[in-house]
Amino acid sequence: MRDAPGDDYCFDIGPMGAIGEQGSLMLRINRHCPWNRCLFCSAYKGVKFEYRTEKEIKRDIDAIERLSHMLSSAKPGQPGEVVREVLSKHPEVYDDGSVGEQALDVRYASLTHVARWLVSGARTVFLQDADALIMRTPELLEVLTYLRAAFPSIERITSYARSRTLTHKPVQELRALREAGLSRVLVGVESGCDAVLEFMQKGVTAEEHIRAGRKVVEAKIRLVAFVMPGLGGKGFRDQHMVETAVVLNQMRPDLIRLRSLAIQRSSPLYKRYEDGAFGCPSDDDMVDEIELLVRSLDFPCEIETGQLTNMLFEIAGKLPEDREDILKTIGRYKAMSHEERLRFRFQRYSKYYLPYVIDRGRSDFELEEQFEEAYDRLQRGAADAERKIEQAIFEMKSRCIP
Ligand code: SF4
Repeated sequence: MRDAPGDDYCFDIGPMGAIGEQGSLMLRINRHCPWNRCLFCSAYKGVKFEYRTEKEIKRDIDAIERLSHMLSSAKPGQPGEVVREVLSKHPEVYDDGSVGEQALDVRYASLTHVARWLVSGARTVFLQDADALIMRTPELLEVLTYLRAAFPSIERITSYARSRTLTHKPVQELRALREAGLSRVLVGVESGCDAVLEFMQKGVTAEEHIRAGRKVVEAKIRLVAFVMPGLGGKGFRDQHMVETAVVLNQMRPDLIRLRSLAIQRSSPLYKRYEDGAFGCPSDDDMVDEIELLVRSLDFPCEIETGQLTNMLFEIAGKLPEDREDILKTIGRYKAMSHEERLRFRFQRYSKYYLPYVIDRGRSDFELEEQFEEAYDRLQRGAADAERKIEQAIFEMKSRCIP
C-alpha cells in the first residue's frame, strides 16, 4: 500500500540473490519460498510464502524507472556522488518528515540498488525469491514484457525455479517466457537420489528433476543445476553422488554449480545432526564425491564451485575438455599426507571463509579464539590438534555460508 508521494520511489527487494547476480537488478516476483521444508536450508524458515500480483510488480518497475531517471539526470560522477546529489535534490522523497525511519531506509535502499545496477550497465535482472516461476505464466509474461519495455538494455533475466514447479509448466509456456526475456533458470537439484531427497524433504523426486530439466533445455533456456556434495551424509554417501550423476546426465544442464554441504545452525538439519540422525560427511568425503561426479558426467557442460563451502573452490572448467585438469587438482589434494591436508584445509578456511563470517558484523570473538587455539595446538603438535581444528571448521560453517 503506497500512501505517501515518496512511496513511488521505492520497491520491494528480497533478502536473497544468487551467485553471479551481484550487479543484477532484484525484481521481487513473490516473497519467500512456497515449499520451505528442505531440512538443509535456512533461507526462509519462519516466514510465510506470499504471492505478489502483476499490478504490484509493475508498480515496482515504475518506481525503478523513476529512480533511474532521477539518477540519470544527476551530474555524472562516482555512484556515491550521484546518490548524494539525488538525496539533496529531492528532499520531498528523502527528507520526508511524514514517514518513519524505516520507510526512509527502504527508499534509500531502493535508490542505491538502482544506482549500482545502472553502474553495472543495467543489463542483468534476477527474479526473486526462491521460486519466481510459480507465478502464473500469462502474468509473468506481462511482467517480463513490461520490464523489458521500460529497460531495453536488459540482456539477461535469471530466476530460481523448483523442479516441481517446472514439471507443471508446459514447454510452450517456458518457450514463451524465454521469448519474453527469461534466459536462465537456476534449479536446486541438490541430489538425484530419491532416498536423500526424501530424507531432506526436498519435495521432489529424481524423475521430476529429470522431467523439469528436459523441459527447460527443450525451451532453450540456459539451465544451471545446483548440486550439494555431502547431502547424503554418511548413510547415503555413495548412492547420493552416483545417482545424482545419472540424473544430471539426463537433465543435461549447461552449468553445474557445486555447493558442498555446510550444516547451518539455523536449519532443521542441525537438530538431526545433533540427534545423530544425520552423520556429517568430512571434507575428504565431499572431495571424493566431487571426483566421482566429474568422472561420471557424460555430456558437455560447465562445472564450477560457487561457494567457499567447497574446500577445493578452484574446481572449474568445461567438460569434457577440462576433466583431466580438474581431476589433477583433486588428485594433488588427495596425494597430500593426512597432516598436510589438515594444514591445507585449516589455512584455506581461515584465509577465505573465516573473514567472511567475521565481516558479516557478527563480531564472532568466540569463533576467532577457537581458530587461534586450534592453530596453536597444530603448531605445537598437540594430540588434540585435529579435533580442535575439525570443531572450529564445523562451527564456522554452521554460522553462515559465504
Ligand atoms: S526449495 Fe529452496 S529455498 Fe525452498 S526450502 Fe528448499 S532449498 Fe530452501
